[in-house]
Amino acid sequence: MPTFLLVNDDGYFSQGLQALRSALRKLGRVVTVAPDRNLSGVGHSLTFNAPLRMRRVEEDFYAVIDGTPADCVHLGYRVLLNEQKPDLVVAGINEGPNLGEDITYSGTVSGAMEGRLLGIPSVAFSAFGKDRESIDFNEVAKACLEVVKRVLREGMPDDVYLNVNVPSLPFEEIKGFKLTRQGKRAYKERVFRYHDPYGKPFYWIAAEEFGWHAEEGTDYWAVVNGFVSITPLQVDLTNYRAFNALRFLETP
Ligand code: MN
Repeated sequence: MPTFLLVNDDGYFSQGLQALRSALRKLGRVVTVAPDRNLSGVGHSLTFNAPLRMRRVEEDFYAVIDGTPADCVHLGYRVLLNEQKPDLVVAGINEGPNLGEDITYSGTVSGAMEGRLLGIPSVAFSAFGKDRESIDFNEVAKACLEVVKRVLREGMPDDVYLNVNVPSLPFEEIKGFKLTRQGKRAYKERVFRYHDPYGKPFYWIAAEEFGWHAEEGTDYWAVVNGFVSITPLQVDLTNYRAFNALRFLETP
């Protein structure tokens, strides 16, 4: 029976987490560790200079006070699982997509990255829908479970972790599963300036309407066309193609 370490970045109360937890429990033991609140966009940060406390929600289910998704992976693996590697680290289901360059901000994807860094096969799951209210996480979880089953059966190369985005459709209406590459977003973020009751300015960074370069084969292209997008990622950020162009930086 496999053991899963399940984390997210939306908080322990999130519907996406609950749906994935229920689905994974059909396959094995699920140890769930999640932040005590929504930390979407927190990326890969680890808490080095503050104490972390875990609160038991129920059997094998903990909330970490002030903990990031990467903290949750650490506490789950090192404390709750006593450094026994789970078969899979699973992050999500994120309440919204993680596509293109946005994955660099994603706490969900970073949860999977942290699992990979600890030497454990890892998968991040996100749901793509018009808005959060319209997403049926139980349907999305069915597609996630398919990916999990196949990964457990076949295994993955050591340097890979997966970023999976599932379109919010009834499972039967999903067109299929596609391996994709990371897409490109047409950025349009704005900084809004407001004033507090004392007249002091404050700022709010918000994503406005944005577009995508929807090239075939990208993550974005897959989900808008009704496919589950599976992007293989790696921790190594080296741009190998740049080596030749940058030889001038080296001393002879
Ligand atoms: Mn999130």
